[in-house]
Amino acid sequence: MRGTLSIVAKLPPADDGLHRWGRALGRDTLDELLLEQARSRGVHVMQPWSLQSFEGGPGKWRCEVRAVDTKAVLTLRALVAIDAHGSWEPLPSDRFQQACSGSDLLAFKANFSGASLPTGLLPVLAFEGGYGGMVMAEQGVLTLACCVRRDRLTALRRASPGLSAGEVVESLLNRECAGVQAALLSARRIGAWLAAGPLVPGIRLRADDPVFRIGNAAAEAHPIIGEGMSMAFQSAWLLCTHLIGAGAQPTLRDVTWQRAVGQAYAKDWHRQFARRLRLASAFAHLAMRPALASPLMALIRVWPGLLPLGATLGGKTRCITTTRSTHDSHL
Ligand SMILES: Cc1cc2nc3c(=O)[nH]c(=O)nc-3n(C[C@H](O)[C@H](O)[C@H](O)COP(=O)(O)OP(=O)(O)OC[C@H]3O[C@@H](n4cnc5c(N)ncnc54)[C@H](O)[C@@H]3O)c2cc1C
Repeated sequence: MRGTLSIVAKLPPADDGLHRWGRALGRDTLDELLLEQARSRGVHVMQPWSLQSFEGGPGKWRCEVRAVDTKAVLTLRALVAIDAHGSWEPLPSDRFQQACSGSDLLAFKANFSGASLPTGLLPVLAFEGGYGGMVMAEQGVLTLACCVRRDRLTALRRASPGLSAGEVVESLLNRECAGVQAALLSARRIGAWLAAGPLVPGIRLRADDPVFRIGNAAAEAHPIIGEGMSMAFQSAWLLCTHLIGAGAQPTLRDVTWQRAVGQAYAKDWHRQFARRLRLASAFAHLAMRPALASPLMALIRVWPGLLPLGATLGGKTRCITTTRSTHDSHL
């Protein structure tokens, strides 16, 4: 969807016979399910605790954690460290003042009730200085999320003093995307707009990392292709296949073994996800720049098959757990 234009094409089904179509699930539901699943498998959950810093190395990690409520501090010792803390909250030990830039991408998200979106439609939005998406999740709640360049947002906020950043974003989307306006016509926002950022898309994972990274801690894709959660799950799965399935009874404290796992994981990770990140970046820049987005929309209008092609290249039809079935036996 861009301006008054909406181009619709069929999403290609996934190549997994059992799970051919994606499903939208709110983070509050998904995260709770994951936590309960981990707890039921014997994971010791410390909540609400926050990691302050970690030091040491493979086989001898020391992590300082602090209780958010009581401020109690503990040092945890671990043979293996897996960094899964995303990319939007630096550890207290890493915090530094980042210089602002007009091209910074700031992310916004809000939920709405009473919105109307045809069943099965998964719109991607393009507008000057940003991109976004809409999805109808469980119980008829519509999520509207987008990224906006800081310079665009600053100019819009100057023109509408008194409005919050989220309200400015909402009126921008209503004004510049007829599809959003139609979906929100009789909708009511549930709660406030949430914001994160600036996003720093790119690959952070390195073959010589002493700590294993998964999810956004390994790499952040422009969310235009909606693959972030999927990549977080799949990278975790991929790392586990290496940690669990790397042969007979590895000694976790063995630095050389951990290094070899890190290298093999990084190689597989790049093979699975690097193209997806490049593609997401290309889509994002095409969507945000009117001089590129207009001809692209004209092209897609003539050849709507470009949309399912993009979805396929972006990883929507493949799941690593089915393409790497040889590892299943180890799990
Ligand atoms: C606007 C927007 C829309 C998006 N839309 C989609 C979409 O439709 N589909 C999709 O698949 N992806 C989407 N994404 C991307 C997706 O949200 C991320 O890729 C995904 O959340 C990454 O998962 P993660 O587990 O690596 O990190 P996160 O989800 O960020 O989780 C990291 C967790 O670590 C915690 N944490 C951080 N620091 C500490 C600390 N020091 N101690 C303890 N805990 C800590 C955080 O509180 C958080 O709970 C979107 C992103 C944005 C910005």
